Amino acid sequence: MFENLVKWSRVKSPWVYHLNSGSCNGCDIEILAALMPRFDAERFGVRLQGTPRHADVIVATGPVTEQLKDRVIRIYEQVPEPKFVVACGQCAISGAVYEGSYCTEGGIDKVIPVAAYIPGCPPKPEAILDAVVKLVTALKEG
Ligand code: SF4
Repeated sequence: MFENLVKWSRVKSPWVYHLNSGSCNGCDIEILAALMPRFDAERFGVRLQGTPRHADVIVATGPVTEQLKDRVIRIYEQVPEPKFVVACGQCAISGAVYEGSYCTEGGIDKVIPVAAYIPGCPPKPEAILDAVVKLVTALKEG
Protein backbone atom coordinates (compact mmCIF):
# COMPACT_ATOMS: atom_id res chain seq x y z
CA MET A 1 0.00 0.00 0.00
CA PHE A 2 2.69 2.50 1.07
CA GLU A 3 4.93 1.39 -1.84
CA ASN A 4 2.04 2.07 -4.25
CA LEU A 5 1.63 5.56 -2.83
CA VAL A 6 5.37 6.26 -3.22
CA LYS A 7 5.31 4.94 -6.80
CA TRP A 8 2.24 7.02 -7.65
CA SER A 9 3.86 10.20 -6.29
CA ARG A 10 7.10 9.51 -8.22
CA VAL A 11 5.21 8.98 -11.49
CA LYS A 12 3.05 12.07 -10.96
CA SER A 13 5.88 14.34 -9.86
CA PRO A 14 9.51 13.26 -10.30
CA TRP A 15 11.80 15.63 -8.39
CA VAL A 16 15.06 16.39 -10.11
CA TYR A 17 18.53 17.21 -8.83
CA HIS A 18 20.79 18.92 -11.37
CA LEU A 19 24.42 17.77 -11.16
CA ASN A 20 27.25 19.36 -13.12
CA SER A 21 30.34 17.18 -12.86
CA GLY A 22 32.53 19.17 -15.26
CA SER A 23 30.31 20.50 -18.04
CA CYS A 24 31.10 23.59 -20.16
CA ASN A 25 27.65 24.88 -19.00
CA GLY A 26 26.02 24.51 -22.44
CA CYS A 27 23.93 21.54 -21.30
CA ASP A 28 23.10 23.27 -18.02
CA ILE A 29 21.62 26.26 -19.83
CA GLU A 30 19.39 23.92 -21.88
CA ILE A 31 18.23 22.11 -18.72
CA LEU A 32 17.32 25.44 -17.15
CA ALA A 33 15.48 26.41 -20.37
CA ALA A 34 13.50 23.15 -20.18
CA LEU A 35 12.49 23.96 -16.60
CA MET A 36 11.45 27.56 -17.33
CA PRO A 37 7.82 28.50 -18.24
CA ARG A 38 8.41 28.48 -22.03
CA PHE A 39 8.94 24.70 -22.11
CA ASP A 40 7.30 24.19 -18.71
CA ALA A 41 8.54 20.83 -17.38
CA GLU A 42 6.33 21.45 -14.33
CA ARG A 43 3.27 20.41 -16.36
CA PHE A 44 4.69 16.87 -16.02
CA GLY A 45 5.17 17.44 -12.29
CA VAL A 46 8.95 17.82 -12.70
CA ARG A 47 10.37 19.96 -9.93
CA LEU A 48 13.98 21.09 -9.42
CA GLN A 49 15.34 20.29 -5.97
CA GLY A 50 18.28 21.94 -4.24
CA THR A 51 19.30 18.80 -2.37
CA PRO A 52 19.85 15.21 -3.57
CA ARG A 53 18.18 13.93 -0.38
CA HIS A 54 14.76 15.08 -1.71
CA ALA A 55 15.26 14.02 -5.34
CA ASP A 56 14.13 11.00 -7.41
CA VAL A 57 16.20 11.71 -10.51
CA ILE A 58 19.72 13.08 -11.00
CA VAL A 59 20.14 14.94 -14.29
CA ALA A 60 23.89 14.93 -14.85
CA THR A 61 25.88 17.06 -17.29
CA GLY A 62 29.51 17.03 -18.34
CA PRO A 63 32.29 14.47 -18.08
CA VAL A 64 33.29 13.41 -14.57
CA THR A 65 36.43 15.27 -13.58
CA GLU A 66 38.96 13.65 -11.22
CA GLN A 67 38.32 16.49 -8.81
CA LEU A 68 34.56 15.80 -8.60
CA LYS A 69 34.49 11.99 -8.87
CA ASP A 70 34.17 11.33 -5.11
CA ARG A 71 31.55 14.04 -4.73
CA VAL A 72 29.48 12.58 -7.61
CA ILE A 73 29.46 9.20 -5.84
CA ARG A 74 28.55 10.83 -2.51
CA ILE A 75 25.68 12.79 -4.10
CA TYR A 76 24.40 9.60 -5.79
CA GLU A 77 24.43 7.77 -2.43
CA GLN A 78 22.42 10.60 -0.84
CA VAL A 79 19.47 10.17 -3.24
CA PRO A 80 16.85 7.83 -1.73
CA GLU A 81 15.95 4.56 -3.52
CA PRO A 82 14.58 3.99 -6.10
CA LYS A 83 16.69 6.54 -7.95
CA PHE A 84 17.49 7.22 -11.57
CA VAL A 85 20.34 9.01 -13.29
CA VAL A 86 19.87 10.73 -16.65
CA ALA A 87 23.05 11.59 -18.58
CA CYS A 88 22.37 14.84 -20.43
CA GLY A 89 24.66 15.63 -23.38
CA GLN A 90 27.54 13.93 -25.17
CA CYS A 91 30.05 14.70 -22.41
CA ALA A 92 27.90 12.98 -19.78
CA ILE A 93 27.38 10.02 -22.13
CA SER A 94 30.97 9.38 -23.20
CA GLY A 95 33.26 12.20 -22.17
CA ALA A 96 33.07 13.51 -25.79
CA VAL A 97 35.71 16.17 -26.43
CA TYR A 98 37.21 15.55 -22.99
CA GLU A 99 37.65 11.81 -23.58
CA GLY A 100 41.22 10.69 -22.85
CA SER A 101 42.01 13.87 -20.97
CA TYR A 102 44.32 13.44 -17.96
CA CYS A 103 41.78 15.11 -15.65
CA THR A 104 38.51 13.32 -16.57
CA GLU A 105 37.13 9.83 -15.94
CA GLY A 106 34.90 9.88 -19.04
CA GLY A 107 31.09 9.64 -19.07
CA ILE A 108 28.99 9.65 -15.93
CA ASP A 109 28.32 5.87 -16.21
CA LYS A 110 32.01 5.24 -15.48
CA VAL A 111 31.24 6.34 -11.93
CA ILE A 112 27.51 5.78 -11.20
CA PRO A 113 24.74 3.72 -12.94
CA VAL A 114 22.78 5.59 -15.62
CA ALA A 115 19.14 4.85 -16.58
CA ALA A 116 18.75 7.14 -19.60
CA TYR A 117 20.92 9.04 -22.07
CA ILE A 118 20.06 12.27 -23.89
CA PRO A 119 22.41 12.79 -26.86
CA GLY A 120 23.34 16.21 -28.22
CA CYS A 121 25.91 18.94 -27.72
CA PRO A 122 23.96 20.38 -26.07
CA PRO A 123 20.59 18.59 -26.27
CA LYS A 124 17.61 20.83 -27.00
CA PRO A 125 15.06 21.47 -24.24
CA GLU A 126 12.55 19.45 -26.30
CA ALA A 127 14.90 16.42 -26.17
CA ILE A 128 15.28 16.83 -22.40
CA LEU A 129 11.49 16.96 -21.97
CA ASP A 130 11.10 13.93 -24.24
CA ALA A 131 13.51 11.99 -22.00
CA VAL A 132 11.57 13.05 -18.90
CA VAL A 133 8.27 11.90 -20.42
CA LYS A 134 9.83 8.55 -21.43
CA LEU A 135 11.25 8.11 -17.93
CA VAL A 136 7.84 8.85 -16.35
CA THR A 137 6.22 6.36 -18.78
CA ALA A 138 8.84 3.72 -17.83
CA LEU A 139 8.14 4.40 -14.13
CA LYS A 140 4.38 3.95 -14.75
CA GLU A 141 5.05 0.59 -16.40
CA GLY A 142 7.11 -0.43 -13.41
S1 SF4 B 1 27.83 18.04 -24.45
FE1 SF4 B 1 28.51 19.97 -25.42
S2 SF4 B 1 27.33 21.57 -24.38
FE2 SF4 B 1 27.22 19.74 -23.08
S3 SF4 B 1 28.91 19.92 -21.62
FE3 SF4 B 1 29.70 18.76 -23.39
S4 SF4 B 1 30.64 20.30 -24.74
FE4 SF4 B 1 29.30 21.40 -23.30
